[in-house]
Amino acid sequence: VKNIKKKQIALLGSTGSIGKNSLKVISQHPKHFQVLYLTANRNINDLILQAKQYRPRGVVITDKKLYKELKTTLSGICKVFWGMGGILEVLQDPEINLVLNSLVGGIGILPTYHSIQLGKDVALANKETLVAAGQLIMKNALKKRVKILPIDSEHSAIWQCILGEDKKNIKRIILTASGGPFRNWSKEKLFEITREQALLHPNWDMGEKITIDSATLMNKGLEIIEAFWLYNVQLRQIEVVIHPQSIIHSMVEFKDGSIKAQMGVPDMKIPIQFALSYPDRLTLKTEYISFDKYNSLTFERPDLKKFPCLKIAIDAIKAGGTYPAVMNAANEVAVNGFLNKQIRFTDIPIIISETMENHSPLKEYSIDELLAVEKESKKYATNLLN
Ligand code: MN
Repeated sequence: VKNIKKKQIALLGSTGSIGKNSLKVISQHPKHFQVLYLTANRNINDLILQAKQYRPRGVVITDKKLYKELKTTLSGICKVFWGMGGILEVLQDPEINLVLNSLVGGIGILPTYHSIQLGKDVALANKETLVAAGQLIMKNALKKRVKILPIDSEHSAIWQCILGEDKKNIKRIILTASGGPFRNWSKEKLFEITREQALLHPNWDMGEKITIDSATLMNKGLEIIEAFWLYNVQLRQIEVVIHPQSIIHSMVEFKDGSIKAQMGVPDMKIPIQFALSYPDRLTLKTEYISFDKYNSLTFERPDLKKFPCLKIAIDAIKAGGTYPAVMNAANEVAVNGFLNKQIRFTDIPIIISETMENHSPLKEYSIDELLAVEKESKKYATNLLN
């Protein structure tokens, strides 16, 4: 295969949903992709199995309490590190030429930043990196000539639609959204939503945080901000359309009225592999679309009154500076609060708004200032849970 240099990968968040799908992609193409490091938060059992199967140079466990047990179990197999310090340390390995960041939440910001500073390309599934720190990340990526390769299915779709196009001809980016499980519920009923109901996504099988974000439509808000930074368009050029079948993963309209859409089954292996194989494509074992199964593709407008999180996200990126970081941090806390049954589904936007109202924004920020804002916002939002 031309043009593909073997990808030596540090896979951050290997035991999550994207991490596991990434390993499925990597193992389909051992000639092209190799895992050098794996990291997990707390899922030691899966991490051990993965280490035995993929034989990386090292693994990192975030939770210090699990470090000793992991080190004993993997002695003679690979090096073992712990914590954010461990992640940042393994990223230094000069053999790594691609960092696949599939960490969940603001915890992913620093490893992305660090990878860029080290001049390593980043396949980015951690959307919070761009939501919270897009300005800083894109500026530094440009300076270091590092590629940010999006894994989020919508952004992969947009990327594929604009390949070979001139940016100045883009009129609109149309982000598609499934609408989540509560699309047709009345506003009143949203008050009673349980954790279990919110975790049942109609089309995608994903981690808990993103599944709740999809149910509140915050996920689409985060993705507007991601698209804003990745594709350098005006905010008003980004639109959201509800497309419940999740077959069109997003679209780009050009100034001559032509629209390109990228389609496929809802399988994250497809955008993951594209980020790894770009600029080429490789055969992938996945399901292929059967047009007998889909007799209609439908589209509708999102209801911002029913799903205020989407509007909060648009307002946050309009306000700019550190506001999106605050929103993101408060959302993480609120989603956790909902998953732990401390608050109602409809309290999520309230907690985010109150945290944002309390914030005095910075227009420009360093990585340290940003992480301090994140921490402060999480503390403030946590207090609101009680
Ligand atoms: Mn997405």
